[in-house]
Amino acid sequence: MPKQPPGDDNVGRMQFLLGLRKRGISDPAVLRAMDEVPREHFVESSFVDNAYADQALPIACGQTISQPYVVAFMTEQLGVRPEHRVLEVGTGSGYQAAILSRLAREVISVERYRTLADTARQRLATLGYDNVDVRVGDGLAGIPDAAPYDRIMVTAAAETIPEALLGELADGGVMVLPLGPHAGPQELVKLTKGEQGIKQEDLIGVRFVPLLPGMAREL
Ligand code: SAH
Repeated sequence: MPKQPPGDDNVGRMQFLLGLRKRGISDPAVLRAMDEVPREHFVESSFVDNAYADQALPIACGQTISQPYVVAFMTEQLGVRPEHRVLEVGTGSGYQAAILSRLAREVISVERYRTLADTARQRLATLGYDNVDVRVGDGLAGIPDAAPYDRIMVTAAAETIPEALLGELADGGVMVLPLGPHAGPQELVKLTKGEQGIKQEDLIGVRFVPLLPGMAREL
């Protein structure tokens, strides 16, 4: 029998959505975005058959595309609305940026590896996600020229809360980030900027690649 093209793996994609629901993802807009964005276009060609398995996969530059459940969970916790402008730190494959682009007015995503940023930019343009602006830079410093942001998502683990990012968060804004040592236990944290200051909620244990300062020296 001829092998089905990956995008036509309807059973795999139905199980993918069912799995997210079973694990507690319930926001219809998030589930719709997870259904719409073709993850097989964001993974390396040798992993296409695993695109709808609930696992993180390696991408170029020694980085990873996050596990779908974690993408969905972080997106749900961020509470993105259609009028929002969102900053993502850690573009990687561009998958999380694509998901956010279905929910927000505009997404600015920053990556420290030029290779990853260029590939993701090209991929997002080809797929028609034209409200995403991919930048090359050090996301630890934020992207001041487009600040403030209604929502900020960091997809690499920070050892301490990046102050520059807090400064670029709008009043009432929400930031979700993995916090903890690079090699040790990390916690997904939700920060809300209110009149009384910053409120912190600890969500779930996670494992992310490290948030590193500066632009990558290699491509
Ligand atoms: N959101 C990505 C997964 C990213 S993995 C996706 O959907 O595929 C984390 C990414 O953060 C890596 O690509 C890494 O290079 C990047 N990163 C780490 N520190 C950074 C920094 N200071 N600024 C920008 N990107 C950073």
